[in-house]
Amino acid sequence: MRLWGRATAVRRKMLCLWLLLLGFALVTLELSDLFHSRHRDLSHQKPAPPRRPLQRVPNAPDLEVIVDSRDSPAVELGVDLAPIKTLQEDQLLFVPSGQGTKNPQQKKGSYKVLLPGANRDLRVPAPPTHGEMEKAHLEGMEEGMEEGVEKSAVQKYGFNEMVSEKMSLHRRLPEKNHPQCLGGQYSESLPSTSVVICFHNEAWSTLLRTVHSVLDTAPKQHLQEVLLVDDLSQHGHLKSVLSEYVSHLDKVRLIRSTKRLGVGGCRNLGAARAAGEVLVFMDSHCECQKGWLEPLLERVAQDRTRVVSPIMDVIDWQTFQYNATQWPVRGVFDWRLDFYWESKPQLQDKDPDSAVRPVQSPALGGGVLAVDRHFFQSVGAYDPGMLLWGSEQIELSIRVWSCGGTMEVVPCSRVAHVDHHHLPYPLPDQELLQRNKIRIADTWMDAYRKIFYRRDTLAHFIRQSESPNITERLRIKRSLGCRNFHWYLTSVYPQLYIPQDRPTLSGELYNVGTGSCADYPRGLGLRGGAMNAAPCSGTGSQHCDLNSEFEVRWGPMGALCLDASGERVILSPCPTHRPTISRLQWKFIKLSGQLVHQQSQLCLEVVKDGGLTQSSPRDVNTHAKTGGLFLRPCSHHPRQQWHFEQLVAPKGA
Ligand code: UDP
Ligand code: MN
Repeated sequence: MRLWGRATAVRRKMLCLWLLLLGFALVTLELSDLFHSRHRDLSHQKPAPPRRPLQRVPNAPDLEVIVDSRDSPAVELGVDLAPIKTLQEDQLLFVPSGQGTKNPQQKKGSYKVLLPGANRDLRVPAPPTHGEMEKAHLEGMEEGMEEGVEKSAVQKYGFNEMVSEKMSLHRRLPEKNHPQCLGGQYSESLPSTSVVICFHNEAWSTLLRTVHSVLDTAPKQHLQEVLLVDDLSQHGHLKSVLSEYVSHLDKVRLIRSTKRLGVGGCRNLGAARAAGEVLVFMDSHCECQKGWLEPLLERVAQDRTRVVSPIMDVIDWQTFQYNATQWPVRGVFDWRLDFYWESKPQLQDKDPDSAVRPVQSPALGGGVLAVDRHFFQSVGAYDPGMLLWGSEQIELSIRVWSCGGTMEVVPCSRVAHVDHHHLPYPLPDQELLQRNKIRIADTWMDAYRKIFYRRDTLAHFIRQSESPNITERLRIKRSLGCRNFHWYLTSVYPQLYIPQDRPTLSGELYNVGTGSCADYPRGLGLRGGAMNAAPCSGTGSQHCDLNSEFEVRWGPMGALCLDASGERVILSPCPTHRPTISRLQWKFIKLSGQLVHQQSQLCLEVVKDGGLTQSSPRDVNTHAKTGGLFLRPCSHHPRQQWHFEQLVAPKGA
């Protein structure tokens, strides 16, 4: 029994031990479970692993997108310019004005995306400072190089930007309108206007002064919009800062071209995007007189085929002083197809109303031009084949007149323009300008184009080796039923002298004794002055024409005549009426080469080192070939022997 009792006690102990072990195991399990479950809970509380943050895609219309230069096509010189009707949306980056949301600046890949209000951190300072250029100025000034800096500012913009930037963007021009213009009553229902301002690398101050000047002077009810068109500018201040600035201006829109279009192409782009009934093309460095817009709109509203210009006043490129242009003035061009404003105050009519009466104008400058939008498009806009800059306004002028429109200057409207000292952007070469002129000559001038080619021999030689692609322009000319150039010359611009250019009696006047040519120092303009002998240019600049009236007509307009003042041979303005005066008559004796002044019967002679006071220093450097032109008793001295050298064959071009 005792044995049974002991065995039972051992079994009980064993059972207890097992139970103990089991309980321990269970407790351990539970504890471990508990631990693990707490651990899971803790892991839930830990921050989530990093995620890509949500990218806010801002509303596209509020954005300015500056395309990285790598994305932009290389600067194209207008060779493949698309005509307006084929301009694609994707060629444009459109920045509407308006109340954009303020968001931080973001950068992404090759794009720099900027939202309005984000200019504080930019490298380019906010207005009214001027970015890199101003920085350069300031640095220069610190170094006490003010003069040198001014020079560079002038070099960069073609005018003294340092003076401009110190002036208010809202300066008011002194009143220069004729008293009869003041208080003029204009209809309330004048057409709406889009002012199209193209710019390429314009200075900040001049561009914004132009914009503010329009906003400050154009009546709100007539101003549809100011359309700024950036012709692929590179200056930093014309990018984000400008967009930001413009976004706060009511009625101002900004379009950027991704191609360099040039003056005409850029204006075509603006015209294609404009909404106003009337387009006003305006250079990016203008200031408007109070009341400038209404008289222009009135004239266009009365006749939608009228293209009109204000009187263009002048802002001095050095001082930015405002100079009013004297009335009457009209736009003309010469046989080298260069444009001028012709101011002839002496022609002021006795009639008191003439001071405020519009004057018909054979051509209008490009500075400011108002035209009905539909008429502009239907007459063929600007010729899209014109390269970058030059003579596009002459082409438009001839076309408007020849194809059913008219042009005039409106005297009660005045806008001032900064006349550059030089173009602020490089033209790749001189030939570009000649190519534009060749388009005009071949499209519009019929047989009269020979007169142009004789006075611009570079154009002649270019034309010999290549033909302009003007098929489309000729088609427009045909379809519009445009009149010929003879009609234009006789009906629109009868004051332009038509050279006779007879063989052996026209060309460079070559002197056998000195090997030089009769020359007239450039820059003396239409006033006339002393004649010299100078190296023959071969460019057509020394071309003259002995006509059937026995006048020796000089210059690209043929408006100056070989004249004598005592024994000095000079140029003076030719009489506008026939018959000419005898003092201006010359006889050329082919056999001896003598050119005999009819009134005095003296001969034209080159006198070495004579009368060079008016010549340019460049002329003085070429001693051997220069001299003054004088009248001397006739002899057979080689310095009295002359040939008319034709540079362009009579049948040429
Ligand atoms: N312009 C342009 N693209 C060019 C060249 C000029 O948009 O390739 C603009 C220029 O900024 C100006 C206007 O066209 O607003 C006329 O040019 P500019 O004033 O240089 O000519 P100018 O008045 O000297 O004849
Ligand atoms: Mn200009």
